[in-house]
Amino acid sequence: MAEYIEKEDMTRQKGFVLKIKELNNRFAQEKGRVPLVKTETYGCQQNENDTERIRGILKDAGFEFCDTEEEADIVIYNTCAVRENAEQKVFGRLGILKHMKESRPDMIIGLCGCMVQQKHITEKIRKIHKHVDLVFGTHALYKLPELLYKAMTKNNKRSVVDIEDSAGKIAEDIPILRDDNKKAWVSVMYGCNNFCSYCIVPYVRGRERSRTSGAIIKEIKSLVENGCSEISLLGQNVNSYGKDLDEDIDFAKLIRMVNEIEGVKRIRFMTSHPKDLSDDLIDAIAECENVCKQLHLPVQAGNNRVLEQMNRKYTREDYLKKIDKVKKKIPDISLSTDIIVGFPTETKEEFEDTLDIIRRVEYDNIFSFIYSRREGTPAAKLDFVLSEDEIHENFNRLLEVQNEISKRKNDAYVGRIEKILVDGESKNDKNMLSGRTDSSKIVNFKGSKELAGKYVKVKITQAHTWSLNGEFVEECI
Ligand code: SF4
Repeated sequence: MAEYIEKEDMTRQKGFVLKIKELNNRFAQEKGRVPLVKTETYGCQQNENDTERIRGILKDAGFEFCDTEEEADIVIYNTCAVRENAEQKVFGRLGILKHMKESRPDMIIGLCGCMVQQKHITEKIRKIHKHVDLVFGTHALYKLPELLYKAMTKNNKRSVVDIEDSAGKIAEDIPILRDDNKKAWVSVMYGCNNFCSYCIVPYVRGRERSRTSGAIIKEIKSLVENGCSEISLLGQNVNSYGKDLDEDIDFAKLIRMVNEIEGVKRIRFMTSHPKDLSDDLIDAIAECENVCKQLHLPVQAGNNRVLEQMNRKYTREDYLKKIDKVKKKIPDISLSTDIIVGFPTETKEEFEDTLDIIRRVEYDNIFSFIYSRREGTPAAKLDFVLSEDEIHENFNRLLEVQNEISKRKNDAYVGRIEKILVDGESKNDKNMLSGRTDSSKIVNFKGSKELAGKYVKVKITQAHTWSLNGEFVEECI
């Protein structure tokens, strides 16, 4: 059973929120403006969701937000440990912030998230990046008011650091500030028990802890009351949801409960581990009207020896059998996956099995990554068979194969009328609106800006590899 942060500890944090508010009032009197915070998120949706909590806490404490470090009194980077380049980006930014802090010594620099949960990184920050004032791990997020207050009032140059070990308790009722009031991520569980050999997540986010269904439903109902209609349920492996709870619940039951909430129009979820994808869940996706017919099922590799070395606990045959079941039950399912290219020990022949599985499944979309060595994981000790050039060549071949499939799948949409939730202006063309289909495909079309946040029908007129173009038909009632 997951443990919760005690009520007294949460109340104690509220006390620090009041203390920060006092400091902020004094700041406003002196400078004639409220203090500004710049937050930046690296990595996955779980981090995005954590940043929403960080912003919720800061908003409560009287801060406002800005877009650049130059304007900011406080900078907080929510970091990622999954790939090396995300860490390099953060260290690069810290170099720039060092110069800014030389001319603005009152500026507070904070780092949090998975990257700083690794001891060798915290040591590096302590030794080399002494201008960082605040470092807190994924489990200490609820303590931000206390830690920030200490950082704001300290009179020495030492960083305030709180990197708890991975035991991890669940903190409910942290305020959340979401930018989008139509769509929301809702965490259903935290951590992971799987220990895939390449992955750092279980070490930095700890073991699986599920929130009670009551807490999740309460959060979703309150989101709906505030106008939200698309809910994405979030967890490192949502298919294990509920295993650690005393209630009679699993993920299939949970999404059936969410499906019953009036006002919820779309339910998405991620991420699913293939070994835990149950028949009950496939049935629930098929039967629940509001659950999007979309499944992200990371396969990572198509060769059994590589899968075993990755500690994925399924074979390509198991995986393909599940995909067959899904396709039979839900013929219009949109499938996506994650692929790691260049896993150590993978040979050229073994990589062909990955291409083969992609051709067989015919995913709508794949998220492919070149393997990134993570210190402390079992795979970090393995040797490479392929050279860097060969790995890049495989990566490009993978994209070529998938691009052809994605385009073909998108071509099939031309002529269809699709229901879109309009996000707003298209990122690439300000004269167009952009939104997503039930299957999560991006659709760009011309229409009034007032349609943002609404469900509309769009006729698909043109297919590209990664998006669709369409013509506005009508607003959905
Ligand atoms: S399932 Fe594997 S890849 Fe996913 S978070 Fe857990 S250990 Fe990492």
